[in-house]
Amino acid sequence: MKALVKSRDERGLWLEDVPEPEMGINDVKIRVLATGICGTDLHIYDWDAWARSTIKQGLTIGHEFVGEVVAVGSNVTDIAIGQLVSGEGHVVCGRCRNCLAGRRHLCAHTLGVGVNRNGAFAEYVVVPMSNIWQHAPGISHEIAAIFDPLGNAVHTALAFPVLGEDVLVTGAGPIGIMAAAVAQHAGARYTVISDPNEYRRALAEKVGVTRAVDPRSTTLKQVQEQLGMHEGFDVGLEMSGNPAAFRDMLANMSHGAKIAMLGIPSQDISINWNQVIFNQLTLRGIYGREMYETWYKMTVMLQSGLDISAVITHRLNWRDYEAGFDAMRSGNSGKVILDWRD
Ligand code: NAD
Ligand code: ZN
Repeated sequence: MKALVKSRDERGLWLEDVPEPEMGINDVKIRVLATGICGTDLHIYDWDAWARSTIKQGLTIGHEFVGEVVAVGSNVTDIAIGQLVSGEGHVVCGRCRNCLAGRRHLCAHTLGVGVNRNGAFAEYVVVPMSNIWQHAPGISHEIAAIFDPLGNAVHTALAFPVLGEDVLVTGAGPIGIMAAAVAQHAGARYTVISDPNEYRRALAEKVGVTRAVDPRSTTLKQVQEQLGMHEGFDVGLEMSGNPAAFRDMLANMSHGAKIAMLGIPSQDISINWNQVIFNQLTLRGIYGREMYETWYKMTVMLQSGLDISAVITHRLNWRDYEAGFDAMRSGNSGKVILDWRD
């Protein structure tokens, strides 16, 4: 089968013929229909220090996908051939304290599809049955392909109650924009998103945020004044990994505010800890998705009118993956989808 493989110890990604993945008795084999490109894939393509120390040469990459079940192992009794599915990209151990308690997103032995085991940028992918999410009728192919990053957004946006609250999102990448849309859908009063990237602010406006702000020209204090807010934002969703963005957030939160942090810092961030302590802030790190409460919530919110379709800006055939990676790199993109149907 064709697959996008990290087959050389250098920058790039190569389309190659590889054997179809083998299945165990607890596995499900999926014919991939569409995939999303994630920032992680870009790191692997660019072969940065993280990628070089994590990725084994010869790996098929990719973890955001939707496909059709073509085969199941002998232990799998409740997943039908032909069913439309996505895969939870974190394969957990099932035996540690957190796994046994049902807190599988906290497993300390998590392995990543397309990072530590062969992934979904291929005609076929195999994942354990415990990683399968069977899509409800009516969920579109394209949206199903990005359930993984939508799940990051949902996990973060719902980490704290947002009903009636004023929410600040720093970073209008695809995940920040989806998180803002989720916060609005879940009943936030104001959802303000900040990003210096004009293309992405325009994209955020399409999903109905209250304000999309350029932090270089408008301060969050000014936005608060314009909106008639007096005490700061109640919930913060840090989606940029950027030190200035995080410091800006800390300076604009209400006393007792809650901050959920998904963005991965690219460097050390020093902050004014007095703001955390005297303003009694709660900071919570978020990784991945809750299995499978996040997946359930995504489905139900889409069924009840959550519309994040504007975040998909590029649709390309898998053979044109280089153009897809270029679009990601340009910053003038939301989600980039590769179609694997022919
Ligand atoms: P992205 O890189 O596309 O978006 C980040 C955005 O932050 C960009 O649009 C950038 O312009 C913006 N930004 C930069 N400086 C800023 C500033 N000073 N103020 C406001 N915005 C600023 O990333 P994404 O794919 O949307 O993902 C969001 C973040 O979440 C990334 O850091 C990513 O690495 C991380 N992530 C974490 C997990 C997890 O499980 N914790 C999973 C997926 C992604
Ligand atoms: Zn575990």
